[in-house]
Amino acid sequence: MITLLDGFVDEPSCLGVPPYISPYVRYIAGAIRDAGEKYEYITIEEWRKGRKIKGDVLVILAGAVVPGRYLRGMPISFREFQEICKNFKGIKILVGSAARYGFRRGGGKSFIDGGRYVDYSVKKDGDAFLYELLNGEPVDRLRTKTEWRRWSVLGAEIAKQHPDYPQPLIAEIETYRGCVRWFTGGCSFCIEPLFRRPLFRDEDEIIKEVKALVAAGVVNFRIGGQSCFFSYKAKGIGESECPMPNVDAIKRLLESISKMQPKVLHIDNVNPSIVANWEEKSREITH
Ligand code: SF4
Repeated sequence: MITLLDGFVDEPSCLGVPPYISPYVRYIAGAIRDAGEKYEYITIEEWRKGRKIKGDVLVILAGAVVPGRYLRGMPISFREFQEICKNFKGIKILVGSAARYGFRRGGGKSFIDGGRYVDYSVKKDGDAFLYELLNGEPVDRLRTKTEWRRWSVLGAEIAKQHPDYPQPLIAEIETYRGCVRWFTGGCSFCIEPLFRRPLFRDEDEIIKEVKALVAAGVVNFRIGGQSCFFSYKAKGIGESECPMPNVDAIKRLLESISKMQPKVLHIDNVNPSIVANWEEKSREITH
């Protein structure tokens, strides 16, 4: 069995600190199910309270790259990560931005590399890596759009194992990866432009994922998994750093999710320069 230990992620375009459950957790669960394997899910807060790790393969999801103050759970520290790795005798896999950039030390200090404490430190998508590993060969790669669609639905059930389920759990929903400013290099400190041209999920894929989460009993949602929500499927991408908001696509998405009558539906991450350049279009979205 595989144990997925959620060390909580907090990235500029993805939140997974309780009461939020990150999409990465769900994609990993979906990839494991797709490969025909079983998993248990445990959060770092549960581990702190003494819950034992039962699996023979341990996947640690970690990566708080944004300084934050949290009320319901603290992301895994480097010291905790070391302790867990030292005591676990099976295969250890580190995924998430802690694998990509290292563990954050805080206060503007440099990142610490955790790679030497694990068997695999996955730089691309943890879900795709696990799927490959469980099928015989470890390959560090990004998930395809088809996998994204499949795993986001297959993994929805893991939400039931979250300590905050059903309330006050909030499922973070991702609409795309990358940044519309990639072709000029974007902001110097940011990694999103490295994904090159943004890869958008289609509305129906996102809606299917939300439906699967609703069927699993999730009632609260945040559409926060993107660098700018108003740039979702925007027009003029690759020509302007401020492409025109696609009001129809955004409306379709929000209206379809609203029809499922979530208790909470909110959005996060809108680039102010898009609002400033497209005032009327932005108003249409918020009306
Ligand atoms: S605008 Fe793009 S490059 Fe700049 S911080 Fe946002 S996502 Fe990163």
